[in-house]
Amino acid sequence: MPYIAVDDTDSVKGMCTTFLLTEIIRIFPNLDVIGYPRLVRLNPNIPWKTRGNAALSVRLGKGRGEGRKIGEIAGRSIYAYEKGIEAGDLNEIYEKVRELVEKLAVFDDEKTNPGFAVSANKTSQSLYWKAVRKIVSVEEAVEELEKSGALYKAYKNRRGLVGSAAALSWRPKRRTYELIAYRYEERWGTPREVDEKSVIEMDRSFPETFDNYDYRNKYVAITPNTPCPILYGIRAIGPERLEKAHKMVKGEKAERWVIFLSNQGSDDNMLGKRIFDIQPYESVVIRGKVAKAPVTIEGGHVIFSISDGSGEVESAAYEPTKEFRETIRALVRGDSVEIWGGVHEKPYTLNIEKLRVLGLEKNRVKVHNPRCPKCGKRMKSTGRDGYYRCRDCGIKIKGGEEYREIPRKIEETWYEVPVCARRHLARPLRLLR
Ligand SMILES: [Zn+2]
Repeated sequence: MPYIAVDDTDSVKGMCTTFLLTEIIRIFPNLDVIGYPRLVRLNPNIPWKTRGNAALSVRLGKGRGEGRKIGEIAGRSIYAYEKGIEAGDLNEIYEKVRELVEKLAVFDDEKTNPGFAVSANKTSQSLYWKAVRKIVSVEEAVEELEKSGALYKAYKNRRGLVGSAAALSWRPKRRTYELIAYRYEERWGTPREVDEKSVIEMDRSFPETFDNYDYRNKYVAITPNTPCPILYGIRAIGPERLEKAHKMVKGEKAERWVIFLSNQGSDDNMLGKRIFDIQPYESVVIRGKVAKAPVTIEGGHVIFSISDGSGEVESAAYEPTKEFRETIRALVRGDSVEIWGGVHEKPYTLNIEKLRVLGLEKNRVKVHNPRCPKCGKRMKSTGRDGYYRCRDCGIKIKGGEEYREIPRKIEETWYEVPVCARRHLARPLRLLR
C-alpha cells in the first residue's frame, strides 16, 4: 500500500503542508487512510526551514476491519484503518499528487522548495533520527528514496525531498496526536475568530490535551500566527476524545479537520552531549555549572554561561520566554544545572527550553568586614588578596568577613519555557514522567 510524503510547500505568506495533505486525502475518495496521517517535525534549528519544519505523510489503501473516524473533509467523514489491502496504482497516485503539489505549493517564495514522494516502502529509520537531530543533504535523501523504490519529484533547490524521505522513515516511539482544523478559503489571511473562553474550557475538560492555553500570558496557543489555512490545532497524548475537544471550541466554523499522528512533544531532537562536542543546529542536553552569572541584555534577553569541564557555552532565555527569564535570573555562579535547548549558530548560543536544577550554591553577600582580633573594631580592606588591616592596632588578617545568606528563589527541580514559547518537539514537563 503506497505511502505518500510531502514537504516544504508552504511559506510565511500562506499555505500549509498539512492542508496539502488533507487535499491528498480528498482527491482519493476511493482509497482509505491506513494508520493515521503523520505530521513529522524535523530539526527545529536549521536556518532554511519554513516555519515549523514539518513533513507530512499518509498511507492509502483499502481498509479492512473497523475504521476509526479521524476527520471530516469537504463534508465527508474520513476513517482510518489499522490494516488494509493494496489498492490504487502507484503511477496514477504519483500523477495526481504531482498536479496537486504544482497547483497548491507556494513556488514564488524563495524559502519554499517543495518535494514529494510516493512509495510502496518506507525509508530506513536512521534517516529520521538524522533529520530530527542533524542535517540531511538532498543527496542522502535521494539515495534513501531510490533504495525504497519511491517515485519522487522535487522543485527548485530540491530540499523538500529531505522532509519527504524523513517523513517516510519515522517509526513512532514517543508519539502524540494533533487535530488540525482548517478555515474556509475565503477567510484565509483574515483574523481568526476563536473564542478564548471556550479554549480554556476545552483545556480544562480534556487533560490529555496539552499546550492549548498559556494562563499566565493569557495566550491562546492553538491558533497559528501566520495567514495559513489552519484555524487551530489541538494536541493530545491520545486521539480518542480529540473530536469532542474540537467541538467544544467556539468561533468560526471549520471547513475541515483531520487528526494527525505526530512526533511533536517527543524530545526526539534532544541529544546528550559534552559542551566541547556541541555542533551548531543541534538540540542538546548538557550538565554543568553556571560559570558566568545571568545578566539581562538589551531587548530583555537573559544570558549566562555553563561550563562542564570540557568547555563553556553561552546560554540564553530570550524575551519571548517571558517569566522563564525570572527563573534563569535566579541562578548564581556555581549552581549545578542540566540544560535542554537548541543551538544557534549566530550568535553561537544555547537557546534554553528546559532547565533542571541539580544543585544550588549558597547565595551570600558580605555584610561586614571582620573585627580586629585585638580591639574589636571593624577592619579596613587592604584592597588586595582579601586582607584586612586594623587602623588602630596595625594588625593584618585574611578572611573573617560576615555574610548574610540570601534565600534562593529557585529550587532543585525542573523548569520549562511557558506554553506561549514552547517549540513543537519539546515535551511539556507534565508529560515527561
Ligand atoms: Zn585593632
